Amino acid sequence: MATEELQPIQGMADIAPPEIKIWQRIESCVRELFHCYGFGEIRTPILEKSFVFLRSLGETTDVVQKEMYLFDDRGGRQIVVRPEGTASVMRFVALKGQEAQDARLYYIGPMFRCERPQAGRKRQFHQVGAEAIGPALAAADAEMIAMQVHLLRNLGLRNFNIHVNTRGLPEDRAVVTAGLRAALEPHIPNLCDDCRRRIDTNILRVLDCKNETCKKIAATLPPVTTFMAETSRKYLDDVLRLLKLLEIDAVVNPALIRGLDYYIHTVWEITHPALGSQDALAGGGRYRITLAEKTVEGVGFAMGFERLITAVQNDNPAFAAGEAQPMIWLVSFGQPAFEDNLKLLQTLRFRGVRCGMDLAGRSMKAQMRAADRSGATAVVIRGDNEMASGTFQFKDMKTGVQIALTLPELLENLNPQVRIAPLPSPVDGAKFQ
Ligand code: AMP
Repeated sequence: MATEELQPIQGMADIAPPEIKIWQRIESCVRELFHCYGFGEIRTPILEKSFVFLRSLGETTDVVQKEMYLFDDRGGRQIVVRPEGTASVMRFVALKGQEAQDARLYYIGPMFRCERPQAGRKRQFHQVGAEAIGPALAAADAEMIAMQVHLLRNLGLRNFNIHVNTRGLPEDRAVVTAGLRAALEPHIPNLCDDCRRRIDTNILRVLDCKNETCKKIAATLPPVTTFMAETSRKYLDDVLRLLKLLEIDAVVNPALIRGLDYYIHTVWEITHPALGSQDALAGGGRYRITLAEKTVEGVGFAMGFERLITAVQNDNPAFAAGEAQPMIWLVSFGQPAFEDNLKLLQTLRFRGVRCGMDLAGRSMKAQMRAADRSGATAVVIRGDNEMASGTFQFKDMKTGVQIALTLPELLENLNPQVRIAPLPSPVDGAKFQ
């Protein structure tokens, strides 16, 4: 039989050793971190009754109209092979009722969309997702974004961008639709065929159309918030303020819509430049879903596992390659620095950072030799000057570059799962993100 015959279906892939190892490493990081935030794992069935997706995602959305694997099972029931995870989790929450009213759940698993396969777009792909059930709270949305960003940072990603927007409330929709329609009216002849149709079916989608002419037209439109009630605008402002408080750099992107019907208020997307044309690493938002007359509200996100791997390979190749965790060696000059380093050793180990120091209080030269022997990726050096200024000399053993850091700066940049980020030249300042 020709080997071609043995290939999996186009857009689907076998994941086997040795490649599976990076999947497992990332999965471990996900589980460990999400447990910290109080999330427990859920594994819902891959197949669902079709209404679960038709009702929640919306009948006119691309996923439902063009991409769902839909079939009749032998009993004549319409079945969907899940294209995403949120609707299934909401079905579970609706089923459990009160018991699940403030559930925090995450999932990792395969999703299926019958899209045209291309780089970064598969028919079977995998998502890591999380859902925090509960009514609209700006702090809950900000916490979700923060958790996702925390995961990306733990995995050593640095070059990602966070885009935020709002879908407002269902009460806003009639005014938003009318406002957008009026603003688009003069441009209708120039819109693409899809967008001309979208004006009547799903006008918001005109805003994120990929067609160049439509994009230019969309850029001239007033932001959707213009048409929303004050409460919806304030909700977005609150989320942005809290993100700032948590030191998360997010930008408002008026073109960000996230096509599905179930979204209300905050929507966001995280992009990464290493992903090429399919640069969306993750998407999320607050939603309200009614299934079998039960309404469930929550906030959640999903990130594409395959795309996450690409981003990790780009930003954190040592982790991706499964190299041993980095090692920091502490070097001191003088008794006070020695004792402070002993305390720092403990602080770092409590944080899961692999580190060591010479306990015999030998000369600097002997300590540096021990650092070399240990295979440390970086050395922290403290002597009288550093003790007086409250800083550390931080030396990257590979490049030899050395900079001064304070304790918070040091801790911020050392992460158990992450190789130590390369240092910029000292002119770039003390921070090395
Ligand atoms: P979505 O709900 O469509 O925004 O999907 C969330 C994330 O899943 C995206 O940001 C991508 O990282 C990933 N994703 C979605 N569709 C695909 C696909 N066809 N192939 C690979 N990854 C995908």
